[in-house]
Amino acid sequence: MKRLTGIPASSGIVLGKAFLYLEDDFPELPRYGIRKDQVEGEWRRFLDANDEAVREVKALNDRAVREISKEQAAIFEAQLMMLEDPDFKDRIKERLHKSLNNIEWVVREISYELIQKLGASGDPYLRERAADISDVSRRIVNKLLSITKFSLADLSEDVILVVHDLLPSEVLSMNKERVKGLAMDMGGRTSHTAILARAFEIPAVLGLSSATKEINNGDTLVINGGTGEILINPDEKNVNQYEQAIHRYKKTVDGLLALGELPAETPDGHRVSLKANIEIPEEADQVQRFGAEGIGLYRSEFLFLASGYTAEEEEQFQAYSRVVKAMKGLPVTIRTVDVGGDKLLPEFQAADEKNPLLGWRAIRFCLSLPELFKTQLRAILRSSVYGKVGIMFPMISGVEELEQAKELLEEAKGECRRRGQAYAPDIQVGTMIEIPSAALTADILAERSDFFSIGTNDLIQYTLAVDRGNEKVNYLAQPAHPAVLRLLKNTIDAAHRRGIKAAMCGELAGDPAATALLLGLGLDEFSMTASSIPQVKRIIRGADQESCRILTEKALNCCSYSQVTALVDEWMAQSFSTNDLSETD
Ligand code: PEP
Ligand code: MG
Repeated sequence: MKRLTGIPASSGIVLGKAFLYLEDDFPELPRYGIRKDQVEGEWRRFLDANDEAVREVKALNDRAVREISKEQAAIFEAQLMMLEDPDFKDRIKERLHKSLNNIEWVVREISYELIQKLGASGDPYLRERAADISDVSRRIVNKLLSITKFSLADLSEDVILVVHDLLPSEVLSMNKERVKGLAMDMGGRTSHTAILARAFEIPAVLGLSSATKEINNGDTLVINGGTGEILINPDEKNVNQYEQAIHRYKKTVDGLLALGELPAETPDGHRVSLKANIEIPEEADQVQRFGAEGIGLYRSEFLFLASGYTAEEEEQFQAYSRVVKAMKGLPVTIRTVDVGGDKLLPEFQAADEKNPLLGWRAIRFCLSLPELFKTQLRAILRSSVYGKVGIMFPMISGVEELEQAKELLEEAKGECRRRGQAYAPDIQVGTMIEIPSAALTADILAERSDFFSIGTNDLIQYTLAVDRGNEKVNYLAQPAHPAVLRLLKNTIDAAHRRGIKAAMCGELAGDPAATALLLGLGLDEFSMTASSIPQVKRIIRGADQESCRILTEKALNCCSYSQVTALVDEWMAQSFSTNDLSETD
């Protein structure tokens, strides 16, 4: 028996068979050179994919004419024109001959160039054409990939997935019923793959460095996502011990679920709000089971990353409305699309940015593609008639970006009004605080925001210069670092001085070890993976806010994260018995 230790990324204990899934088997957007005599074959593939896309759009167009609206049909007509445009095809053919790259890559490259050019144009008509090109090329590339791509969606047996790295889009598309656990060489606790594993309640250990070398296909594995431990081919005694641990874990989880109905209130009467983060609309059906009082973060970009998705307004409207309706009047905060970094939209974004995490991400991406952005804003606005919707903008670095985003929101509202599409008049507009520049100028941003939501995953990454997905430097991603605590304090205090709410939707909000500090800092709302809510609530219901405030004051005077961590550990040990806190063995 061998034992590996990695980063505990999604709790739960599971025993099963390893399925090794190696990167080379599934390139995300393949790029490879072709010979001259292969050009004709690649061109043929393009024409077939194009024909299929034409058939698909025609069907959508017919449906739109019959069931939706003339405007929607006009969008599909524009796309059909694009698909049948000889100039578009000629460009692709010419580049294919010149570059001798595979056709998926050529389509992406040409459309990327056109989108950049049209998106930057001052002419709204041309900017809208950029959105058409994006939709059309996405369709074609999807068709091309579905012809060649091996997919985790086809898993037909229960497995523990062992991978070097896995993109968030792959987690979305895999057959989640069959993936009982995940072991990964790369990744940290706040990487999006970890976040998705928690959302789908798949026990996961990441950052293992060499799991794909140490584990063979078919090995028996035990994964403990709460401790970060993996056993390879355990003996019978160990299997028995783990089976008992699985049983105890289930009992603890059931016990915690019983807290669902109780308010998130400290014994001295301080009430906070606990909400859920979701990544896909279906999750909204489950979150109330854990006692969520709303959705504090809907990561809308996962809709854009799902395979076959076309980013059309109607499709988005359906998805957002589904979430809002499922929450039955409880508040839903939809975060506008945050692609880039580890969430690339292949037909827009090349994988060759030198520093993707500092690059064309989130609000920067949206502001440079205003039509795409406004399409999303209209879809969100329209969904607001079904409940209580808030909008928030990711990765705001300063006032200019916030003002521009708000201006586009106003334009989107005007467009809805002109089209006769209703939206709620009282939509709250929030700023995500996840860049140090935003936290340091929180007083200025607070004057222009209805609420703040602190994204600690990025805030910690950018404050401490630690790539959140890189297991080699993961040990440095310390939320208790004095620099992080000071930025959190500055942000929360600025919000309160301005009379707005300070929420947090980064992973720290769901970490029971941080709850006391966050209560002490005065955080109003904690939004997290739904299954973490009961644990956090248990701490809140057991800790006086005044005692948390004193703890936090002391923590703010510490000079290192080790000191803060020791202080908090000691306080936790005094305030809660070990039995109260143990979640997994
Ligand atoms: C964050 O950065 O903390 C956050 C909530 O956003 P994301 O994890 O999606 O980057
Ligand atoms: Mg973020």
